[in-house]
Amino acid sequence: MRFPNLLVVISGPSGVGKGTLVSRYMEKHPESYLSISLTTRQPRPYEICGKDYYFVSKAEFQRYIESQRLLEWAEVFGDLYGTPRDPVEEALQSGKDAILEIDVQGGLRVKNCVPEAVLIFVLPPTREELRKRLMKRGTENPSQLQHRLEVAEIEFKYISYYDYYLINDVLDVAVADLEKIVFAEKHRVSRVRHPLLEGGDPLVRP
Ligand code: ADP
Ligand code: 5GP
Repeated sequence: MRFPNLLVVISGPSGVGKGTLVSRYMEKHPESYLSISLTTRQPRPYEICGKDYYFVSKAEFQRYIESQRLLEWAEVFGDLYGTPRDPVEEALQSGKDAILEIDVQGGLRVKNCVPEAVLIFVLPPTREELRKRLMKRGTENPSQLQHRLEVAEIEFKYISYYDYYLINDVLDVAVADLEKIVFAEKHRVSRVRHPLLEGGDPLVRP
C-alpha cells in the first residue's frame, strides 16, 4: 500500500495562527516538507533567515521571478512573498507531502497550476479573537494591524475557492483537524495506489 503524497496549501488571515499550527504539525510530521518562502519584508526579532523565511532584497526577489524559480508569488501588505519552486518539486518527487503557508492570491495560483493541490483555509473562532492574537503577537503597529484586519475581511470572501476550512480555536484540536484532512485526502480513491486497484479493474462488478 502506498499513500499518495500531497501538495497542501494553508491560508487564512494574518494572526489566525497559521505559523503556529503548521510548526506544531511539522513537529508531529517531520517526514513532511515545509516550504520556506522568500520575502522582501524585514525580519521580526525572533525570525531566523532560512528557517522562517529567506529575507531578500527586492532586486534578488526580482531575479527569482525572472529566472522562473518561484512556483507562485504575490504582493502582500506591501511586501513581496514567493514560494521557491525547486525544493517543492524535489520534495514531491521524493514522495514527501509539501506544505505551503501562503496567502489566498498564492493559494489560487497554486490551484491553477496544480489542480490536485489541497487548499485549506484557517479561520479564527471570532473576529475579536483574531484582533487579540495580532495584538498579543505585537509585531505590527496599530495602523499595520488595522490594515491586516481589513485585508482579512477580503480574504474571507475567497474561502469558497478552498477545499477545506478549519477553525483554530484550541490549537491541539486544529492540529488534529489538519491531520484528519490530510488522512482523508490520502484515502481518496482517485489518488490511491493499491495493488487491488491497479489495472483499473473495478472491485465491484456490475
Ligand atoms: P499567522 O502565522 O497566521 O500570522 P501566528 O502563528 O503568528 O499567526 O499566530 C498569531 C498569534 O496567535 C501568536 O501570538 C500565537 O502564539 C497565537 N496563537 C496561535 N494559535 C493560537 C490558538 N489556537 N490559541 C491562542 N493563541 C494562538
Ligand atoms: P507575515 O508577514 O505575517 O509572515 O505573512 C504575511 C502573509 O504572507 C501571510 O498571509 C502569509 O501566509 C503570506 N505568505 C507567506 N509566504 C508566502 C508566499 O510564499 N507566497 C504568498 N503568496 N504568500 C505568502
